[in-house]
Amino acid sequence: MRFSHYNILSSQTKEGKYVLLNGFTGLLDVIDKEAYDLISSYAEADDLPPDVIESLSGIKEQFYERGYLTDLSYEKEIAAAKKKALELYAEYLKAEWDVVIVPTLACNYRCTYCFEKGSGYPTPSMSKNQVDAIFRIIPDKIGSGERITLYGGEPLAKENRHIVEYIVDKGREIGRTFFAVTNAHDLDHYMDLLGDGGISTLQITVDGPKRIHDHRRIALDKSSSYEKIMHNIEIVLHETTAAISLRINIDKRNVQYILEFLEDLEKRGILDHKNLQLAASPIVGVGDLRITSDDIRKLEKESEERYPQLKDNFMSRTRTDNSNILASLYLGEIIHPKVAACGAAGTTKIFTPEGKIYPCWGCIGQTDQVIGTYDESGNIIWNETVVENWRKNSIAYNECLECKYAFLCGSGCRRPALPGETTSHDYDCEYYRDLFADYLAKVVEHV
Ligand code: SF4
Ligand code: SF4
Repeated sequence: MRFSHYNILSSQTKEGKYVLLNGFTGLLDVIDKEAYDLISSYAEADDLPPDVIESLSGIKEQFYERGYLTDLSYEKEIAAAKKKALELYAEYLKAEWDVVIVPTLACNYRCTYCFEKGSGYPTPSMSKNQVDAIFRIIPDKIGSGERITLYGGEPLAKENRHIVEYIVDKGREIGRTFFAVTNAHDLDHYMDLLGDGGISTLQITVDGPKRIHDHRRIALDKSSSYEKIMHNIEIVLHETTAAISLRINIDKRNVQYILEFLEDLEKRGILDHKNLQLAASPIVGVGDLRITSDDIRKLEKESEERYPQLKDNFMSRTRTDNSNILASLYLGEIIHPKVAACGAAGTTKIFTPEGKIYPCWGCIGQTDQVIGTYDESGNIIWNETVVENWRKNSIAYNECLECKYAFLCGSGCRRPALPGETTSHDYDCEYYRDLFADYLAKVVEHV
């Protein structure tokens, strides 16, 4: 008998308790210090000594049932995890598509950390014939209630209005709404398309207060992007039913200004708006400018002290984990196991105006990552080699299966590494290694 390899222990909570979570079974419990000491002392033991087994007698059966204790050897436990991952992955591949439509790869901004730097990305806009083809392909591939994503370039640039309206109308015909990733510069040209039944959710990026944001997110016409974007955000919140996920891309250059930005949101009276959600995210692929786990910890602490309502609701990644963990704590639900970190391993299909289909948002424009092509008649030719390569980005097939976080993490981001990155999932590993134990303890403090 041994402790499961997939046991994860939290840091100590304010009440002196700990959380024990088993990644394999997706179950968790709050435990006391005595149990914590025992589990952490014998976490790697192949066979628990008789006196330890004896000391577990009161909770042994429960620990077995919940997967914290096992009679399987390490190798057999990994083999059981592999079997489970393969079964889950077979289900994952049956799932409906996450459809992303890219009306254009052109952008009206030249953000300092974006691939559109310099002369931008030369490309035509999507034609109505291409949109018709996409809507011939997708109706029986996307689940009922699933939103279609609009991505770019800048999908909601004013020049795209005619084709975006056409796409939204086609979506409405099949009962779909839209999520758009936009810089919001020209949102005033789209107000009538926003809200229930149309573009229902927007992801808008603002990188700090005006003087910081304007130096990072640069409009081609050199106008202040901050004022225009904030004005548009306020109109969306006050005059439409659309929800906004406000993304704050953070690196070493702007991390010290984020509180100032939150102050501005407060002054504008929108920090607590029911349709506004903050989603701060570290920028990856910027080498030494990437913020560290300590930077994230400090930023969260300072922002939560100033604005307690942001507790566990500020970094986009934490919020997702929290909702899973809270459902398990409050409702006894099993934490949904992940076999892949995102849809790129099989479900995401990104249609571009060049007639290409990509699996990953971060790979658009990389021709060696094209998983297929589509034509105006709605025919698709899949590139099976690339499809197969992306399918391997699952814990069912890669080294992550032996990581205790495997079923929580799903093996992290798997796009090709950016300059300065060892791998694209460096950040995922850092998060679980450095921050997750603290988050787990913090979530329990809500209960
Ligand atoms: S592989 Fe990484 S960049 Fe690509 S969609 Fe997934 S999380 Fe995003
Ligand atoms: S990406 Fe890192 S944290 Fe995630 S499962 Fe793989 S090894 Fe573990």
